[in-house]
Amino acid sequence: MSRVGFIGLGNMGGPMAANLVRAGYHVTGFDVVQAGMDAHKAVGGNVASTAAKTIVGAEIVFTMLPAGKHVREVYLGDGGLLAACKDAAPLFVDCSTIDVETARAVAGEAADMLDAPVSGGVGGATAGTLTFMVGGSEDGFRRASPFFAAMGKNIVHAGEAGAGQAAKICNNMLLGISMIGVAEAFVLAERLELDFEKLFRISAASSGQCWSLTTYCPVPGPVPGSPANRDYAPGFATALMLKDLTLAQQAADAVNAATPLGAHAMRLYEAMAEAGLEGKDFSYVFRWLADRGRGGIG
Ligand code: NAD
Repeated sequence: MSRVGFIGLGNMGGPMAANLVRAGYHVTGFDVVQAGMDAHKAVGGNVASTAAKTIVGAEIVFTMLPAGKHVREVYLGDGGLLAACKDAAPLFVDCSTIDVETARAVAGEAADMLDAPVSGGVGGATAGTLTFMVGGSEDGFRRASPFFAAMGKNIVHAGEAGAGQAAKICNNMLLGISMIGVAEAFVLAERLELDFEKLFRISAASSGQCWSLTTYCPVPGPVPGSPANRDYAPGFATALMLKDLTLAQQAADAVNAATPLGAHAMRLYEAMAEAGLEGKDFSYVFRWLADRGRGGIG
């Protein structure tokens, strides 16, 4: 039975590690928060007392951490993963969403490392239906594939180191922009006294069709499973969308890419977060715009 290390047992990492246990792997987890470790033990996993100890005997080690600074610290810091395995390094796979530069820098120090951010949220992590966007070597991708298959459904090798993170921020910039577009259509419909269900039926079968409309509709009613029907409980929180849009703008700055709508989307989500709405689902942008009126948006 293959041994797996898993560091970062939070909202995403917890259920991902649980799916690896369910698939029959021997998974040793670590988190700085005890609750994550307890939950991992409860599903049949083992725990280690430090991040470095998860790599003992492991064929592959996953990390699922909040941001780039945590990834640097866990891999490159004092007592970090790379220093702990000079002789027999496992394959490292970082699934956190972080900046492309950090992903490339950390991979550059490791013998073999993939960046493999995910899409699908906590629901996808729990159901084992995540999409993995993977950057790194062909050989690493091949070796990690059975493990990805235990946690996800759609697994794409996007290119060399950093390509997974690049794909993730391109996709989520598009998502942020398209959600605001759908929200604006419903804001205008509301003011024009056009019935939401009617607009949905028309646009879902017309040129306005997109995922933000048909799967994640930001107004209550048309798509029963969307967060709009549960007072915009996430789902995908505004704070996480703002994080990804900020990463996209950092990357756009670094490579001189023109992304004016991405920049504007970031500013709108920033304003929502500043208004204390960072915990609401990102589709709340509909209600936020609707409540403001034409003069209320900077
Ligand atoms: P989370 O905060 O719930 O989990 C992160 C975990 O990392 C926490 O349990 C934290 O204690 C742990 N951690 C932090 N520093 C650590 C360290 N030095 N050593 C060990 N553990 C440490 O966050 P999450 O929602 O699980 O998200 C994880 C990553 O996945 C983020 O990069 C996020 O952007 C990305 N992501 C999240 C979602 C989502 O819907 N939640 C969707 C796609 C991608």
